[in-house]
Amino acid sequence: MDIQIRDIYKGFGSFPALRGANLDIRSGELIALLGPSGSGKTTLLRTIAGLEFPDAGQILFGGVDTAPLPVSERRVGFVFQHYALFKHMTVLDNITFGLRVRKSKNRPDKDAIRKRALELLDLVQLSGLEKRYPAQLSGGQRQRVALARALAIEPSVLLLDEPFGALDAKVRKDLRRWLRELHDKTGVTTIFVTHDQEEALELADRVVVMNRGSIEQVGSTSDVYERPATPFVFDFLGSVNVFPGTVKDRKLSIDGANVTLDTDNDHAAGAVDIYVRPHDLRVVEEGSSGFDVTIKTVQRTGAIVRLITQLKHNKEIVEVELAHLDPQAINRKVGESIRLQPAIYGLFPRASHDS
Ligand code: ATP
Repeated sequence: MDIQIRDIYKGFGSFPALRGANLDIRSGELIALLGPSGSGKTTLLRTIAGLEFPDAGQILFGGVDTAPLPVSERRVGFVFQHYALFKHMTVLDNITFGLRVRKSKNRPDKDAIRKRALELLDLVQLSGLEKRYPAQLSGGQRQRVALARALAIEPSVLLLDEPFGALDAKVRKDLRRWLRELHDKTGVTTIFVTHDQEEALELADRVVVMNRGSIEQVGSTSDVYERPATPFVFDFLGSVNVFPGTVKDRKLSIDGANVTLDTDNDHAAGAVDIYVRPHDLRVVEEGSSGFDVTIKTVQRTGAIVRLITQLKHNKEIVEVELAHLDPQAINRKVGESIRLQPAIYGLFPRASHDS
């Protein structure tokens, strides 16, 4: 089912939790809503589910406005971080619950319900555990039962709110890979909330980065990581150096040195902030395009050599990460002067700093 989210506003009292969210989701996509705590991810998910009503805007499922549809008619499956299973029911009864409570005209017969539940148990790799109670399962197994329960109603949309948040790192990683495979098998349009950038980048077809109730960027994992659209996205998706520069006639000057731009970065001019990740800086020969820094510290940590450097005039700190086998990483010494050229970077007008 494709989903269109059109200009959604939602406030709690005077607090604007969603401020004009727009998003088109294609049928069968696996989408991550990524953002810091309080950015509106859960509110957006709950609004899609029909558990919250937007103050303004529209949500369309397959082109149909969902406003008049109650939750039960939206065919959405949910899994929440702490969405407890029914403790007094077996795994099998938990999974079949959504089908058993249907009105009789929409309810499959007993055998069909049982067959579907056993197929789902197989799908979530828990065959043989149908008679257990939730207390007899591990955390990861419980989340898989919760997923099977959500899938039992044959949802057109699956909504997951930090589904693996409460689990330890190793189980989380296994479940991530497993969820990706499950999604590829079922093809259900799936939206999951996470504040973990690694989880979003690893799992999703597209990542929606949220900040303060707005969508900052929507893109493939490489789009949002390699071409962040805003300073916020740069900052949120990994460590980044920020230092000042000036753009004039499409030429960038950093700390008094001219740096050749290798892309058409024509949206910024005048005073800018340069955003560049430590591993996107190259050490280049004297005489080539770049700016000069002095090495303050050299940290060798396994596969990475980290240089803490300082701009010559401006004195800003710039961190550089080189692979330990990079010829430029060998024999680097404190006090040495090197020239740096940004390989991938963002230029943003200085005024947008606090956006
Ligand atoms: P987290 O990662 O912490 O779950 P989130 O990005 O999912 O955060 P939301 O839960 O959507 O954020 O909350 C967005 C903002 O709306 C927060 O500031 C929150 O305090 C506020 N909020 C959410 N639900 C309510 C409510 N029922 N009443 C009042 N304020 C609310």
